[in-house]
Amino acid sequence: MALNRREFLKIMGGTTAALAFPGVMFQGCKKALEQAAARTNIIWIEGLSCSGCSVSLLNKLNPDIVTVITEHISLNYQGVVMAGTGSVATRILEDAVKKERKDFVLIVEGSIPTKNDIFCTIGEDEKTHKGIGVRHWVEELGKNAMAVVSVGTCSAYGGIPSGKSPALGENQTGAVSVQEILKDKVVLNIPGCPPHPDWMVGTLLHVLMKGMPKLDEYNRPEMYYGKTVHEQCERLYSYKRGIFAKEWGDGDGCLYNLGCLGMDSGCDIPKRKWNDGASSCTECGSGCIGCTEKVFPDYGRRGIYQNLHADKKSDQTDQAGILSKGVKGGIING
Ligand code: SF4
Ligand code: SF4
Repeated sequence: MALNRREFLKIMGGTTAALAFPGVMFQGCKKALEQAAARTNIIWIEGLSCSGCSVSLLNKLNPDIVTVITEHISLNYQGVVMAGTGSVATRILEDAVKKERKDFVLIVEGSIPTKNDIFCTIGEDEKTHKGIGVRHWVEELGKNAMAVVSVGTCSAYGGIPSGKSPALGENQTGAVSVQEILKDKVVLNIPGCPPHPDWMVGTLLHVLMKGMPKLDEYNRPEMYYGKTVHEQCERLYSYKRGIFAKEWGDGDGCLYNLGCLGMDSGCDIPKRKWNDGASSCTECGSGCIGCTEKVFPDYGRRGIYQNLHADKKSDQTDQAGILSKGVKGGIING
Protein backbone atom coordinates (compact mmCIF):
# COMPACT_ATOMS: atom_id res chain seq x y z
CA MET A 1 0.00 0.00 0.00
CA ALA A 2 1.38 3.39 -0.99
CA LEU A 3 1.35 6.05 1.70
CA ASN A 4 2.00 9.71 1.23
CA ARG A 5 3.52 11.86 3.96
CA ARG A 6 0.14 13.17 5.06
CA GLU A 7 -1.25 9.66 5.53
CA PHE A 8 1.83 8.66 7.49
CA LEU A 9 1.41 11.64 9.80
CA LYS A 10 -2.15 10.52 10.42
CA ILE A 11 -0.99 7.08 11.46
CA MET A 12 1.47 8.52 13.92
CA GLY A 13 -1.27 10.44 15.68
CA GLY A 14 -2.47 13.27 13.46
CA THR A 15 -1.30 16.77 14.23
CA THR A 16 0.24 15.65 17.52
CA ALA A 17 2.64 13.33 15.71
CA ALA A 18 5.05 16.15 15.21
CA LEU A 19 5.56 16.24 18.97
CA ALA A 20 6.79 12.70 19.05
CA PHE A 21 8.52 12.15 15.74
CA PRO A 22 11.24 14.48 14.62
CA GLY A 23 11.41 15.43 10.96
CA VAL A 24 14.27 13.07 10.26
CA MET A 25 11.95 10.13 10.87
CA PHE A 26 9.89 10.94 7.82
CA GLN A 27 12.82 10.38 5.50
CA GLY A 28 12.22 7.06 3.81
CA CYS A 29 9.35 6.23 6.15
CA LYS A 30 6.95 5.39 3.36
CA LYS A 31 9.14 2.65 2.01
CA ALA A 32 9.96 1.37 5.49
CA LEU A 33 6.31 1.18 6.45
CA GLU A 34 5.44 -0.73 3.29
CA GLN A 35 8.19 -3.23 4.03
CA ALA A 36 7.11 -3.54 7.64
CA ALA A 37 3.53 -4.17 6.61
CA ALA A 38 4.67 -7.00 4.39
CA ARG A 39 6.48 -8.90 7.08
CA THR A 40 5.51 -7.95 10.60
CA ASN A 41 3.20 -10.13 12.62
CA ILE A 42 1.77 -9.15 15.97
CA ILE A 43 0.76 -11.59 18.69
CA TRP A 44 -1.10 -9.78 21.50
CA ILE A 45 -1.89 -11.78 24.62
CA GLU A 46 -3.61 -10.73 27.81
CA GLY A 47 -2.72 -11.48 31.41
CA LEU A 48 -4.39 -10.06 34.51
CA SER A 49 -6.08 -6.96 33.16
CA CYS A 50 -9.39 -5.22 32.56
CA SER A 51 -8.86 -5.12 28.75
CA GLY A 52 -8.76 -1.33 29.01
CA CYS A 53 -5.57 -1.17 26.94
CA SER A 54 -7.28 -3.08 24.12
CA VAL A 55 -10.27 -0.75 24.35
CA SER A 56 -7.96 2.28 24.27
CA LEU A 57 -6.25 0.87 21.17
CA LEU A 58 -9.64 0.58 19.50
CA ASN A 59 -10.05 4.31 20.03
CA LYS A 60 -7.32 4.98 17.48
CA LEU A 61 -9.29 7.31 15.28
CA ASN A 62 -6.86 8.89 12.91
CA PRO A 63 -6.75 6.62 11.00
CA ASP A 64 -9.24 4.20 12.55
CA ILE A 65 -7.90 1.04 14.12
CA VAL A 66 -9.38 -1.17 11.39
CA THR A 67 -7.10 0.50 8.86
CA VAL A 68 -4.10 0.02 11.13
CA ILE A 69 -4.68 -3.69 11.76
CA THR A 70 -5.78 -4.59 8.25
CA GLU A 71 -3.33 -2.53 6.23
CA HIS A 72 -0.25 -1.82 8.32
CA ILE A 73 0.32 -4.80 10.60
CA SER A 74 -0.67 -8.44 10.57
CA LEU A 75 -2.51 -9.10 13.81
CA ASN A 76 -2.14 -12.86 14.24
CA TYR A 77 -3.75 -13.06 17.67
CA GLN A 78 -5.65 -10.55 19.80
CA GLY A 79 -8.28 -11.84 22.20
CA VAL A 80 -10.58 -8.81 22.08
CA VAL A 81 -10.87 -8.22 18.33
CA MET A 82 -10.10 -11.56 16.69
CA ALA A 83 -12.89 -13.58 15.10
CA GLY A 84 -11.47 -17.02 15.97
CA THR A 85 -12.32 -18.62 19.31
CA GLY A 86 -11.47 -21.73 21.35
CA SER A 87 -8.91 -24.22 20.05
CA VAL A 88 -8.87 -22.60 16.59
CA ALA A 89 -7.54 -19.41 18.13
CA THR A 90 -5.19 -21.07 20.61
CA ARG A 91 -3.62 -23.08 17.78
CA ILE A 92 -2.01 -19.88 16.53
CA LEU A 93 -0.11 -19.60 19.82
CA GLU A 94 0.70 -23.33 19.93
CA ASP A 95 2.04 -23.26 16.37
CA ALA A 96 4.16 -20.19 17.08
CA VAL A 97 5.76 -22.05 20.02
CA LYS A 98 6.14 -25.43 18.24
CA LYS A 99 7.63 -23.91 15.08
CA GLU A 100 9.81 -21.61 17.14
CA ARG A 101 8.61 -18.67 15.07
CA LYS A 102 10.75 -15.57 15.35
CA ASP A 103 8.84 -13.40 12.89
CA PHE A 104 6.57 -11.57 15.29
CA VAL A 105 6.39 -8.86 17.90
CA LEU A 106 4.89 -10.07 21.19
CA ILE A 107 2.60 -7.57 22.90
CA VAL A 108 1.44 -8.34 26.41
CA GLU A 109 -1.41 -6.56 28.18
CA GLY A 110 -1.88 -7.23 31.90
CA SER A 111 0.38 -8.62 34.61
CA ILE A 112 1.45 -12.22 35.08
CA PRO A 113 0.39 -14.29 38.11
CA THR A 114 3.20 -16.36 39.60
CA LYS A 115 1.55 -18.04 42.58
CA ASN A 116 -0.69 -20.30 40.51
CA ASP A 117 -1.40 -20.61 36.79
CA ILE A 118 -5.11 -20.93 37.53
CA PHE A 119 -5.33 -17.16 38.10
CA CYS A 120 -5.03 -16.48 34.38
CA THR A 121 -5.12 -19.02 31.58
CA ILE A 122 -5.26 -18.95 27.79
CA GLY A 123 -6.52 -22.15 26.15
CA GLU A 124 -6.27 -25.62 27.63
CA ASP A 125 -4.11 -28.69 27.38
CA GLU A 126 -5.72 -31.10 24.87
CA LYS A 127 -5.09 -34.17 27.00
CA THR A 128 -5.66 -32.96 30.55
CA HIS A 129 -8.10 -30.14 29.67
CA LYS A 130 -6.34 -28.02 32.25
CA GLY A 131 -5.99 -24.33 31.53
CA ILE A 132 -2.59 -23.17 30.27
CA GLY A 133 -1.21 -20.35 32.37
CA VAL A 134 -0.47 -17.02 30.68
CA ARG A 135 3.02 -17.28 32.22
CA HIS A 136 3.74 -20.27 29.94
CA TRP A 137 2.81 -18.25 26.86
CA VAL A 138 4.88 -15.24 27.90
CA GLU A 139 7.92 -17.44 28.57
CA GLU A 140 7.63 -19.50 25.38
CA LEU A 141 6.58 -16.77 22.96
CA GLY A 142 8.86 -14.20 24.57
CA LYS A 143 11.92 -16.41 24.00
CA ASN A 144 11.85 -15.98 20.23
CA ALA A 145 9.86 -12.78 19.65
CA MET A 146 11.77 -10.11 17.70
CA ALA A 147 10.61 -7.61 20.32
CA VAL A 148 8.50 -7.78 23.46
CA VAL A 149 6.24 -4.85 24.28
CA SER A 150 4.30 -4.38 27.51
CA VAL A 151 1.22 -2.24 27.00
CA GLY A 152 -0.37 -0.74 30.09
CA THR A 153 0.94 -0.28 33.60
CA CYS A 154 -0.15 -3.79 34.71
CA SER A 155 2.10 -5.41 32.12
CA ALA A 156 4.90 -2.86 32.48
CA TYR A 157 5.16 -2.78 36.27
CA GLY A 158 2.47 -5.02 37.81
CA GLY A 159 -0.10 -2.22 38.20
CA ILE A 160 -3.39 -2.69 39.98
CA PRO A 161 -3.39 -6.56 39.91
CA SER A 162 -0.08 -6.55 41.81
CA GLY A 163 -1.43 -4.39 44.65
CA LYS A 164 -1.22 -5.74 48.19
CA SER A 165 -4.32 -6.77 50.09
CA PRO A 166 -4.53 -4.52 53.17
CA ALA A 167 -5.88 -7.47 55.15
CA LEU A 168 -3.20 -9.99 54.13
CA GLY A 169 -0.32 -7.61 53.53
CA GLU A 170 0.52 -9.40 50.30
CA ASN A 171 -0.69 -9.91 46.76
CA GLN A 172 -2.79 -13.03 46.41
CA THR A 173 -1.81 -13.90 42.84
CA GLY A 174 1.86 -12.94 42.94
CA ALA A 175 1.24 -10.71 39.90
CA VAL A 176 4.42 -9.32 38.33
CA SER A 177 5.46 -7.40 35.24
CA VAL A 178 6.47 -9.08 31.99
CA GLN A 179 10.05 -7.87 32.54
CA GLU A 180 10.18 -9.91 35.76
CA ILE A 181 9.27 -13.03 33.76
CA LEU A 182 11.60 -12.31 30.83
CA LYS A 183 14.62 -11.17 32.79
CA ASP A 184 17.06 -11.71 29.91
CA LYS A 185 15.22 -9.51 27.40
CA VAL A 186 14.70 -5.79 27.11
CA VAL A 187 10.95 -5.34 27.43
CA LEU A 188 9.70 -2.08 25.97
CA ASN A 189 7.15 -0.53 28.32
CA ILE A 190 4.17 1.57 27.25
CA PRO A 191 2.55 2.22 30.63
CA GLY A 192 -0.67 4.06 31.31
CA CYS A 193 -4.02 3.07 32.75
CA PRO A 194 -4.81 2.94 29.91
CA PRO A 195 -2.03 3.99 27.51
CA HIS A 196 -2.97 6.47 24.81
CA PRO A 197 -3.58 4.74 21.44
CA ASP A 198 -0.98 7.00 19.79
CA TRP A 199 1.65 5.73 22.25
CA MET A 200 0.89 2.10 21.33
CA VAL A 201 0.68 2.47 17.55
CA GLY A 202 3.46 5.09 17.36
CA THR A 203 5.88 2.97 19.42
CA LEU A 204 5.06 -0.14 17.43
CA LEU A 205 5.75 1.59 14.12
CA HIS A 206 8.97 3.01 15.50
CA VAL A 207 10.11 -0.52 16.39
CA LEU A 208 9.20 -1.74 12.90
CA MET A 209 10.80 1.11 11.00
CA LYS A 210 13.66 2.34 13.13
CA GLY A 211 14.23 -0.27 15.82
CA MET A 212 13.97 0.45 19.52
CA PRO A 213 13.13 4.07 20.34
CA LYS A 214 15.23 5.85 22.97
CA LEU A 215 14.07 4.60 26.35
CA ASP A 216 14.14 6.20 29.79
CA GLU A 217 15.23 4.46 33.00
CA TYR A 218 11.86 2.66 33.17
CA ASN A 219 12.12 1.38 29.58
CA ARG A 220 9.50 3.85 28.34
CA PRO A 221 9.92 5.67 25.01
CA GLU A 222 11.27 9.11 25.87
CA MET A 223 9.32 10.63 23.02
CA TYR A 224 6.08 10.10 24.94
CA TYR A 225 7.17 9.93 28.60
CA GLY A 226 10.26 12.16 28.68
CA LYS A 227 8.53 15.25 30.11
CA THR A 228 6.25 15.50 33.12
CA VAL A 229 2.56 16.29 32.95
CA HIS A 230 3.30 19.37 35.05
CA GLU A 231 5.82 20.75 32.53
CA GLN A 232 3.22 20.57 29.77
CA CYS A 233 0.10 21.29 31.78
CA GLU A 234 -2.62 23.68 30.64
CA ARG A 235 -2.78 24.94 34.27
CA LEU A 236 0.94 25.66 34.68
CA TYR A 237 0.20 29.34 34.22
CA SER A 238 -2.01 29.23 37.33
CA TYR A 239 0.52 27.22 39.34
CA LYS A 240 3.23 29.80 38.66
CA ARG A 241 0.96 32.57 39.88
CA GLY A 242 -0.25 30.75 42.97
CA ILE A 243 -3.81 30.32 41.72
CA PHE A 244 -5.23 27.03 42.97
CA ALA A 245 -8.50 25.25 42.24
CA LYS A 246 -10.85 24.79 45.18
CA GLU A 247 -12.62 21.68 43.95
CA TRP A 248 -12.06 18.96 41.39
CA GLY A 249 -13.57 20.02 38.09
CA ASP A 250 -12.92 23.72 38.61
CA GLY A 251 -12.31 25.36 35.27
CA ASP A 252 -9.38 27.41 36.54
CA GLY A 253 -6.53 26.98 38.94
CA CYS A 254 -3.79 24.44 39.52
CA LEU A 255 -4.98 21.15 41.03
CA TYR A 256 -1.86 20.49 43.13
CA ASN A 257 -3.44 21.26 46.49
CA LEU A 258 -6.23 18.82 45.72
CA GLY A 259 -3.73 16.03 45.05
CA CYS A 260 -2.66 16.25 41.41
CA LEU A 261 0.44 14.11 40.76
CA GLY A 262 1.45 15.80 37.50
CA MET A 263 4.89 16.70 38.88
CA ASP A 264 5.67 13.01 39.42
CA SER A 265 4.38 11.66 36.13
CA GLY A 266 6.05 11.35 32.74
CA CYS A 267 3.31 11.71 30.12
CA ASP A 268 2.37 14.04 27.24
CA ILE A 269 -1.42 13.95 27.64
CA PRO A 270 -1.78 17.72 28.29
CA LYS A 271 -0.42 18.25 24.78
CA ARG A 272 -1.72 15.11 23.07
CA LYS A 273 -5.19 14.98 24.75
CA TRP A 274 -7.59 12.05 24.93
CA ASN A 275 -10.38 11.09 22.55
CA ASP A 276 -9.12 12.72 19.39
CA GLY A 277 -8.13 15.94 21.12
CA ALA A 278 -11.23 16.38 23.30
CA SER A 279 -9.51 17.08 26.64
CA SER A 280 -6.85 15.91 29.09
CA CYS A 281 -6.84 14.65 32.68
CA THR A 282 -5.67 18.05 33.95
CA GLU A 283 -7.67 20.21 31.55
CA CYS A 284 -10.98 18.62 32.56
CA GLY A 285 -10.15 19.21 36.22
CA SER A 286 -9.80 15.60 37.37
CA GLY A 287 -6.05 15.90 37.88
CA CYS A 288 -3.25 13.44 37.27
CA ILE A 289 -3.36 10.14 39.19
CA GLY A 290 0.17 9.17 38.15
CA CYS A 291 -0.91 6.19 36.07
CA THR A 292 2.26 5.96 33.95
CA GLU A 293 4.62 5.51 36.88
CA LYS A 294 6.09 2.35 38.32
CA VAL A 295 4.71 3.04 41.79
CA PHE A 296 1.09 3.31 40.52
CA PRO A 297 -1.28 2.77 42.27
CA ASP A 298 0.65 2.35 45.54
CA TYR A 299 1.32 6.03 46.22
CA GLY A 300 0.50 5.56 49.88
CA ARG A 301 -0.81 8.85 51.23
CA ARG A 302 0.59 11.03 48.50
CA GLY A 303 -1.50 13.22 46.23
CA ILE A 304 -5.01 12.07 45.37
CA TYR A 305 -4.36 8.79 47.22
CA GLN A 306 -4.46 10.45 50.61
CA ASN A 307 -8.23 10.14 50.25
CA LEU A 308 -7.87 6.38 50.60
CA HIS A 309 -6.51 7.11 54.08
CA ALA A 310 -8.88 9.91 54.95
CA ASP A 311 -9.15 8.69 58.53
CA LYS A 312 -5.44 9.37 59.04
CA LYS A 313 -3.40 12.53 58.85
CA SER A 314 -1.74 13.05 55.47
CA ASP A 315 2.03 12.82 55.15
CA GLN A 316 1.87 15.81 52.87
CA THR A 317 0.49 18.73 54.79
CA ASP A 318 0.52 20.96 51.69
CA GLN A 319 -1.85 18.58 49.93
CA ALA A 320 -4.06 17.95 52.95
CA GLY A 321 -6.87 20.37 52.19
CA ILE A 322 -8.96 17.65 50.66
CA LEU A 323 -9.04 15.67 53.90
CA SER A 324 -11.69 17.84 55.49
CA LYS A 325 -13.80 17.81 52.33
CA GLY A 326 -13.63 14.22 51.19
CA VAL A 327 -13.69 13.33 47.53
CA LYS A 328 -15.95 15.72 45.67
CA GLY A 329 -15.05 14.80 42.14
CA GLY A 330 -14.44 11.58 40.28
CA ILE A 331 -11.30 10.72 38.39
CA ILE A 332 -11.93 10.33 34.72
CA ASN A 333 -9.01 8.77 32.92
CA GLY A 334 -9.14 8.78 29.17
S1 SF4 B 1 -2.75 20.87 37.69
FE1 SF4 B 1 -1.15 19.37 38.25
S2 SF4 B 1 0.13 19.17 36.46
FE2 SF4 B 1 -1.10 21.06 36.18
S3 SF4 B 1 0.18 22.73 36.97
FE3 SF4 B 1 -1.06 22.00 38.69
S4 SF4 B 1 0.20 20.40 39.72
FE4 SF4 B 1 1.07 20.77 37.70
S1 SF4 C 1 -3.46 10.31 34.95
FE1 SF4 C 1 -1.57 11.53 34.64
S2 SF4 C 1 -0.06 10.02 33.91
FE2 SF4 C 1 -2.10 9.10 33.62
S3 SF4 C 1 -2.71 9.65 31.51
FE3 SF4 C 1 -3.58 11.24 32.88
S4 SF4 C 1 -2.03 12.86 32.89
FE4 SF4 C 1 -1.00 11.01 32.10
